[in-house]
Amino acid sequence: MEIKKLEFKKQSSTALTDQNLRKALRNTTDRFRASRKRAYDELEGFEDLRNRAREIKKETIENLPIYLGMLEGNVIKTGGKVHWAQDGEEACRIIVEIARENGVRSVVKSKSMATEEIELNHALEEAGIKAVETDLGEYIIQLAKERPSHIIAPAIHKSKDDISRLFSEKLSIPYYTEPEQLTRVARERLRSEFLSADMGVSGVNFAVAETGTIVVVENEGNARLSTTVPRVHVAVMGIEKVIPRYGDLSIFLPVLVRSATGQKISTYVSFITGPKRKSDMDGPEEFHLVIVDNGRAKILASEETRESLYCIRCGACLNICPVYRQVGGHSYGWVYSGPIGAIITPQLLGAEKAPELPFASSLCGACKDVCPVKIDFPKVLLELRKRVVEGENKDGRGGEAGLLERLLVRLWRISMESKTAYSLLSTLSYFLQFPWLSKNRKLSSLPYPFSEWTNDRDFPAVAKIPFRKRWKEISKI
Ligand code: SF4
Repeated sequence: MEIKKLEFKKQSSTALTDQNLRKALRNTTDRFRASRKRAYDELEGFEDLRNRAREIKKETIENLPIYLGMLEGNVIKTGGKVHWAQDGEEACRIIVEIARENGVRSVVKSKSMATEEIELNHALEEAGIKAVETDLGEYIIQLAKERPSHIIAPAIHKSKDDISRLFSEKLSIPYYTEPEQLTRVARERLRSEFLSADMGVSGVNFAVAETGTIVVVENEGNARLSTTVPRVHVAVMGIEKVIPRYGDLSIFLPVLVRSATGQKISTYVSFITGPKRKSDMDGPEEFHLVIVDNGRAKILASEETRESLYCIRCGACLNICPVYRQVGGHSYGWVYSGPIGAIITPQLLGAEKAPELPFASSLCGACKDVCPVKIDFPKVLLELRKRVVEGENKDGRGGEAGLLERLLVRLWRISMESKTAYSLLSTLSYFLQFPWLSKNRKLSSLPYPFSEWTNDRDFPAVAKIPFRKRWKEISKI
């Protein structure tokens, strides 16, 4: 599906007027933050775990082809099949083919950002295959025909009343007001979907290269059912989800779960190595692993931004971000939101599709402080801003910075490098400012391109006596 240019500024301006959304965001992100803090404080050595997690991610990403090759070999050795997809379209085609070969009519899905990214549900529907989301949050947004607005809490933007209304309308049930009633309805509906589905699709939290095991972390048990009840299991992962060793899970599982929900361990952790064996009581007859690039190799090639691929999708950076907490996930326009969305979306889609996202940050660095793999967000954001300004976009055509802006920056640079040029510019600015100077000595509405500044804030008047001169006089006293 063609993705249009994302309009963060426009979307976020609308979101800011939605008081219900802001209240829902505040409540949930505050809860996540408090739980994470408690989990962080009570585990001695959490900081060491984070350092180790970052080291392992760095080692993996630097040697990605080796670990992916090892993963492929071990998945095949344990009876699974591996498929490589260059982009989302190819990944969807592969999955639809697997479904057709197996006569699949319905699919149950567990929560997966990778399948959101490739728009798998849409591809399955187009192929006449029913796809049902089984994570409660994902089930809600599928009914509402929306995108997730948070990595681990996809329906964070919906209030209880919104969900009551939605369920009543879409599922033709009475208007239930209690969360327990709503959950019971979803559970009953989903149970029959699990039992009748021919294929289960899951994401992958970690894929262990040395054993070919994929690990799925969740709290509802729906991923366990999706990966064991249907005849065929298809797991979809981005190339960055591989980790070298089984033992590395002792680092990643605690940092992921504590950073995401503040739990010591999630309710379900499934370790899946190949399809059902003869001695197994249950499990799928076929196991397929679809490994998707979809723009990641390009990130891998960039030394400055490569660490964006360290992300383990815990959502902690969203919960702490002063921008995300005000505007929510839909403002970011695509599947990834918050600080990770601000750095990964422009790289996956191309800067020309999301030029505003690297600027959707105050650069406060709170995201870096909570990230379990310590991604240096301010550094990556500045690099991406530089690319937008310099016009290093996907097809090499133009950038966001216009000729005028570049000329002004050049002028500013000359004036900052020469004392004479600086004095000249200050004197000139002092005289030129009068037509726009207000009574309170503020510049509140300058013409373009300075209006880009004064549209949102005032500019102080240029002083008659420059500071340098005043300083000389003050120093004499
Ligand atoms: S960037 Fe870090 S904090 Fe944000 S989702 Fe990824 S791992 Fe979590």
